[in-house]
Amino acid sequence: MKKEELITRDKKHIWHPLTQHKTAAAPLAITKAKGALIWDEHGKQYIDGIASWYTAMYGHCNEDITAALNKQMQELDFVMFSGFTHKPAIELSERLIQILPDNQSKIFFNDNGSTAIEAGIKMALQFHHNQGKRRDTLIAFEDGFHGDTFGAMSASGISSYNGPFENFLLKVERIPIPTDETIDEVLGKLDIILKSNSCAAFVFEPLIQGAAGMKFHSAKGLNMLIKKCQEHDVLCIADEIMTGFGKTGKNFACDYLEHKPDIICLSKSLTAGMFPLSITSCSQQIFDAFLSNETAKGFFHAHTYSGHPLGCAAALAGLDLLVSPHITERRKYIEGEHQKFLKQIENHPKIENARTLGVVLAIDLKVETNRYGKLRDEMYKYFMAKGVNLRPLGNTIYTLPPYVITNDQLHKIYQSISDFLNS
Ligand SMILES: *Cc1c(COP(=O)(O)O)cnc(C)c1O
Repeated sequence: MKKEELITRDKKHIWHPLTQHKTAAAPLAITKAKGALIWDEHGKQYIDGIASWYTAMYGHCNEDITAALNKQMQELDFVMFSGFTHKPAIELSERLIQILPDNQSKIFFNDNGSTAIEAGIKMALQFHHNQGKRRDTLIAFEDGFHGDTFGAMSASGISSYNGPFENFLLKVERIPIPTDETIDEVLGKLDIILKSNSCAAFVFEPLIQGAAGMKFHSAKGLNMLIKKCQEHDVLCIADEIMTGFGKTGKNFACDYLEHKPDIICLSKSLTAGMFPLSITSCSQQIFDAFLSNETAKGFFHAHTYSGHPLGCAAALAGLDLLVSPHITERRKYIEGEHQKFLKQIENHPKIENARTLGVVLAIDLKVETNRYGKLRDEMYKYFMAKGVNLRPLGNTIYTLPPYVITNDQLHKIYQSISDFLNS
């Protein structure tokens, strides 16, 4: 009997994320991955130009990371993290505190990006509650994306998919992202929001809004917004789930800021694409606000798989790689090549705006389109046919390649973008 294709079997029982199953094309069955490459079930090879949603930055099936996982799973697979602790989590907390901004002091473990945000928002709300203050409003940027659980959805400004849930979300006031020109105007808006609400926290993606189409904003502007929020005892929550671990050219986007956030959320490349894990870090001041003889003032929030030893082992191996000479050299190389490619194409008649920061390169086309509209689907198909996995967001083509991408592979991505622009 002929072996059934994976796609046929997939269709029987699987409900895919972010998918309208009535109209969507069948997904591609991937059977193998290595470095910057993935292969489908027919053996066709693709360059993973977005590192599988910015996770596999050190390459797929990275041998240092698989070895670390292998070793860990022979010693301690998993143990609950309430009432128990273990060396991988302790070591990871020590290593993260060394590289996070100086004001960060405690690490709370979760299991994915949305739950890291959820924990951050709950920490902020309870921080005020524990001090007898009623603060019920969040501040967030328009068009931000923070995940798909209720708190994270509330803070997210991309609401076309949140429609059915809108009446169930937290109270949020929105401000536009600041440019160097509009910062006074945005500060004015923030001022009005702060005066007319009881604000608990400001949630933001620092410097780059990923899902909004790799939109950049001004570090100087963000810095001033954080300062103002902190002057009003509004806790600042930086969502570094996309930007963390070197994507912007520094370890964290917050390293570009003078005023540091009170809470930082990390996931995605934290475990290099090997394992779902996330952390929510916070300052000592926040942790201290939960200390009390009253049990209920503690943070009663947990996930079964909090601080999974395998995730921690992958993260520790990832941190070694992040600062290794090889990866440091590759990051510099990609940054330099992105800048050269940007100069080559930025005046192309089809381009509205092109920009790069760190290893992120984004190009907005001069057309209006829906986020998941027809043009976006056509572009996606075009790049996949060329053997390059790029997933345009609306009219924005972007690449955020794994740090280990080879020179030839990187240039193949540029070539496919140039070909598309000239097609
Ligand atoms: C991916 C992402 C999230 C959500 O993470 P999940 O693991 O998908 O829940 C939140 N914020 C940002 C900036 C992200 O890129």
